[in-house]
Amino acid sequence: MADTAPLEWLALARGTLDRVALNRRDDAWLDAAWAAPDTRVVVVDDGRALVTYEPDPSLVLVSPDQAPDGDRWLLGEDEAGTVYFGVSGELPTIEGTGTAGLRRVGAILGDRDSGLITHAVALEHWHRTHRHCPRCGTVTRVTSAGHVRVCPEDGSQHFPRVDPAVIMLVTDENDRILLARGPQWPADRRSILAGFVEPGESLEQAVAREVHEEVGLPVRDVRYVGSQPWPLPQSLMLGFTATTDGDTPLRPDPEEILDAAWYTRAELRAAIDAGDLVAPGPLSIAAQLIIRWYGDQLPKMQPF
Ligand SMILES: [Zn+2]
Repeated sequence: MADTAPLEWLALARGTLDRVALNRRDDAWLDAAWAAPDTRVVVVDDGRALVTYEPDPSLVLVSPDQAPDGDRWLLGEDEAGTVYFGVSGELPTIEGTGTAGLRRVGAILGDRDSGLITHAVALEHWHRTHRHCPRCGTVTRVTSAGHVRVCPEDGSQHFPRVDPAVIMLVTDENDRILLARGPQWPADRRSILAGFVEPGESLEQAVAREVHEEVGLPVRDVRYVGSQPWPLPQSLMLGFTATTDGDTPLRPDPEEILDAAWYTRAELRAAIDAGDLVAPGPLSIAAQLIIRWYGDQLPKMQPF
């Protein structure tokens, strides 16, 4: 596969709505949209939303008059002109529905609903954890249809926090990939390396630094291949490939990596088939980077 091939499918980068960001400060438009009978609302409570699994996994959207009286955020508009909001508050009780978070349903919802819940849980977490002005401590006011908070004391504006993180598929000259196990993970779990971008650092520098810190390898040919939001709770995952010399001894940092090893495609398949290795699930960009290298769906991957 060409090195420049994009990632074919990313669970959390499938949103279909127009975010209509220019309407966020138009109070008349927002009021009319909230009053429209076909407007739909996704209610979020501590990262969870109402879902149903029949006939297919989908969000249970309610009308504005069924929504709780919480913070409200404009999420977007579909091609038919239906407007979608998110609201924080207690989930309505609706027979035949259940509750779920992004981790459970992000990969199995349809494109529209996957985008809706990804956007909504990101905003809900930010509003819940960033209520006060970082300059003066005053409780800030929600504005721009839920996408900005403003301090009434000093006028400072605060935007939803997104923490960029790089995640990288490192290959050697024999096209093996490096998989590692984090300290909190089950014994059979392996994935590719990842880490947060630091202030004053480019994405490419972050890739090189993280690989060096975690396993002691120098990398070259750092290439961007795709991204997806990862609001668990507030990251953006930026996917890269990089190459290194597979003869260089691995020096895992015991604080971050319990073990690390190289895998050919046949070795990865054998390890998964034998039950010795569990690869990342379909929600993650890690899985899609591994699939892109592997050239096929991984064995034993959960169904989408
Ligand atoms: Zn302030």
